[in-house]
Amino acid sequence: MARIVALDIGGTKIASALVTLGEGTPLVEHLGKVPTEAKLGGRHVLETACASARRVIEAAGGKVDGIGVSSAGVIDPATGDVTYANEIMPGWGGTHLGAELEAAFGVPARVLNDVHAHALGEARWGGGREATSCLVVAVGTGIGGAFVEDGHIMLGAHNEAGHIGHVSCTDAAGVPCSCGATGHLEPIAAGPGIIERYVELGGDATLADGTPIDGAEIDRRAADGDEAAIAAEARSGHAIGEVLGSLVNMLDPDRVILSGSVAQCGAAWHEAMDRGWSEAVMPPVAQTPVVSGELGGDAPLIGAAENVVASAYRELA
Ligand SMILES: [Zn+2]
Repeated sequence: MARIVALDIGGTKIASALVTLGEGTPLVEHLGKVPTEAKLGGRHVLETACASARRVIEAAGGKVDGIGVSSAGVIDPATGDVTYANEIMPGWGGTHLGAELEAAFGVPARVLNDVHAHALGEARWGGGREATSCLVVAVGTGIGGAFVEDGHIMLGAHNEAGHIGHVSCTDAAGVPCSCGATGHLEPIAAGPGIIERYVELGGDATLADGTPIDGAEIDRRAADGDEAAIAAEARSGHAIGEVLGSLVNMLDPDRVILSGSVAQCGAAWHEAMDRGWSEAVMPPVAQTPVVSGELGGDAPLIGAAENVVASAYRELA
């Protein structure tokens, strides 16, 4: 059994917990969350992360085997450095996160990008427990993913592999993407794209009390037969299905694990996804199961802890 301090450092919150990994289901205890206060700079975020780790170590009675981190930004898992972070976390890029934590606490520290940590958690301990290879995709405010085989995350040459939101799809032809390209999946299939489409099609931009409409309300309206809501969800679902089918042709995973708030949408979204999938997927891999993620918000914490126990990247010789 390994007792690992797990940190999940995002743009708005830092979650921390003690994760115990052994034979059975991982145990997540002493969960806490504090604001990241990212605007105060990278040094402040690091200090907050250290305070979170200290809190967990004290709650655990002082003795832990390591620190596993899931962090926003581009991470070099071999060094634990944050090699790049966008303007949401000014000064976070360049942080020697792994080395700083090891120096502060005297135990091994390993760092993964948050999407990769989520994927590793689901692949090893969630929806992919019984599988050798998994394509893990999360669809929420954004879209991210990873391919995990034999417990190894495919990282790519720049530790950037898995940007499934930035794959082209037919439904997005001509639509500008936040990355600067056009025609990518994310702007039409993630949550904000569904809301935008709903309003374009004549749906209410706000509720009776003046608050902006959200995805959950659009999903309720789709279930009640609101045609604009159905069409907005269907555009997202179809595009996701098309891209998943294409990627399964490429990767041939044992299964696809789908998580995130958009994947919780009702029949309009799922029927469209099935249609997009059927149009794109090749017959030999068409029966690949698409299952739901099982770990929810614990996935990045569990993945970060798993990465300490069994290094999820191929070590350089
Ligand atoms: Zn893009």
